[in-house]
Amino acid sequence: MQIPAQALLLSSVFAAAALAQDAKPLGYQDTPLIPGTNWHVHDGLRPQPKVITPGMNPGDAPSDAVVLFNGTDLSHFQKNTGEKPNWTIEEGCAVSVKGAGYLESAEQFGPDIQLHVEWAAPTPPSGTGQGRGNSGVFLFGNYEIQVLDCYENQTYPDGQAAAIYGQNPPLVNACRKPGEFQTYDIIFTGPRFEGAEVKTPAYATILHNGVVVQNHVQLLGGTGHKSAPKYTPHGEKGPIKFQDHGNPVRFRNIWLRELKAVDSQ
Ligand code: MG
Repeated sequence: MQIPAQALLLSSVFAAAALAQDAKPLGYQDTPLIPGTNWHVHDGLRPQPKVITPGMNPGDAPSDAVVLFNGTDLSHFQKNTGEKPNWTIEEGCAVSVKGAGYLESAEQFGPDIQLHVEWAAPTPPSGTGQGRGNSGVFLFGNYEIQVLDCYENQTYPDGQAAAIYGQNPPLVNACRKPGEFQTYDIIFTGPRFEGAEVKTPAYATILHNGVVVQNHVQLLGGTGHKSAPKYTPHGEKGPIKFQDHGNPVRFRNIWLRELKAVDSQ
């Protein structure tokens, strides 16, 4: 079919107009510099944030997430010896098996991370205090966010669910009943080291079942049982580990994102 000359002319006019619109500056270059940066206020030349697709429902992985466990296999994990892990998969959940050891990501992540984890304590519950539904999420394999069935189960506050173990209790106890799935959304700023010294410490913000329970809390070092926290230098990336504390805690829908400033994307 032949396209009339008039239509061609019109379309080229529209294309030129669109081009002119594209060329219009997005912001300003005659505004003050933002302190500590090389960017002007409203600088249109500043890099655009990367476009991603968020998950359909709350808790779903966005398009730029690394999905560590989606219910089907443990291929992203290993034992700390590098062998295949002995945790089991039951009804789409990775289940901690007594004596199996920690479930450790084969890949290393950092220094700044957003981590989503869903977990459920055993039901019916058994044991008390630290012996009831104990597990843990370890960032850099070194900083434990406690997993514990704290529904009508008291323990020392810096060891309850969503505590930075041995350092900082959660702001509130937001635990669901055993058997019910619970979410952790952990925003973790890894520490930076200069030689043997910590240059900037780690920070954690944590939402437990959507409730802020750690608000940009500074970590005082690696977490430990009955020991004072202390930093031991490590690399800018490290594994994510899940603790085998002898209780069959179930995990599902585990994903994470490394957080990068828009200017460095
Ligand atoms: Mg633990």
